[in-house]
Amino acid sequence: MHQWQPYVPQGLFCVAEASCCEEFILCQEGAEFFVRRQAADGTYEETARSPYSRAAKAWKDLAATHRHEARAAS
Ligand SMILES: [Zn+2]
Repeated sequence: MHQWQPYVPQGLFCVAEASCCEEFILCQEGAEFFVRRQAADGTYEETARSPYSRAAKAWKDLAATHRHEARAAS
């Protein structure tokens, strides 16, 4: 399981990868990587910061849980 905590900016923010529908974003700030997601209330949450390989694996695991629901054509 992944630990989520409120997102606190700690440096120059950079998007490394975005999952389908941008549900999970693999982010970089300085030398640290983490996954960011948007909570139901609109705020952001982040996983524990770690080196790229670990954060990228967490991001891939999380992205795999994404259930894509195609929007019905209006
Ligand atoms: Zn999707």
